[in-house]
Amino acid sequence: MFDNLSDKLDKALHNLKGHGKITEINVAETMKEVRRALLDADVNFKIAKEFTNTVREKALGQNVLTNLKPGQLMVKIVKDELTELMGGDAAELNLTGNPSVILMSGLQGSGKTTFSGKLANFLLKKKTKKPLLVACDVYRPAAIDQLHIVGEQIGVEVYSDRGNTNPVAIAKDGIKKAKELGCNVVIIDTAGRLAVDEQMMDEISNIHKAIEPQETLFVVDSMTGQDAVNTAKAFNDVLNFDGVILTKLDGDTRGGAAISIKSVVNKPIKFIGTGEKMEAIDVFYPSRMADRILG
Ligand code: GDP
Repeated sequence: MFDNLSDKLDKALHNLKGHGKITEINVAETMKEVRRALLDADVNFKIAKEFTNTVREKALGQNVLTNLKPGQLMVKIVKDELTELMGGDAAELNLTGNPSVILMSGLQGSGKTTFSGKLANFLLKKKTKKPLLVACDVYRPAAIDQLHIVGEQIGVEVYSDRGNTNPVAIAKDGIKKAKELGCNVVIIDTAGRLAVDEQMMDEISNIHKAIEPQETLFVVDSMTGQDAVNTAKAFNDVLNFDGVILTKLDGDTRGGAAISIKSVVNKPIKFIGTGEKMEAIDVFYPSRMADRILG
């Protein structure tokens, strides 16, 4: 994960290891390289600039107060700032509703259906949670079939209504069904399109208003780099969502989305997807991710 970024940051910070102390000059050089590494990883220019400015100020400020060697100090500061940039503490799901309703949003192919299944499986393992999956894609019958397959795989009931073309009604009926079945979590999988368009935004916004979910999650493919951040912004403007799910982190993704998204939409990344299997889900811990990036 993020091998290229890790290598480049390591090289950039390594340069300081030979120096006896941090100076204006060597910190400026190091920050130039750090910024380049972030830009190569598809981090937005403004974020990369702010990041390196903050790190530089901290490095120069803390330099006199610490016994750490320059290289160690810089690694520590970069790690702390990366953690902060990615959200600070881990963010939990709000599951206080009865049932708790979780609405999935995102583009087609981002991994919504797969993640709906993964999340249901994750919650099922908590023993106290009995999830119901609801298929609200009224355009692609294959998407309904896919959710049923996922449900069967993990042993979770799936509600769908193939004759119904009204996703708001299906979502509401799904919640009713959950109450009948004694399910305390409802995960609603919705239709996505290949790009942000008005009709999709209206539809998801209508579902959102009608069911008032406890959690609205935005699912995004981390391989799409800066586009992931732009799409997040578009969905957040309409839904004011509660959290981000970053999928396909097992692929050859450069890391920009993971690093930038929180500061652009000011919403935490809650989970990551790390493969196609139902078990390939992890709670997102910013500090662990920063540790991983800095090796
Ligand atoms: P949806 O259209 O948003 O519902 O997306 P899908 O759930 O159908 O996922 C699209 C494709 O991405 C499928 O082939 C999934 O198996 C795959 N996929 C989803 N999540 C991940 C992930 O975390 N890692 C990998 N490698 N593939 C994933």
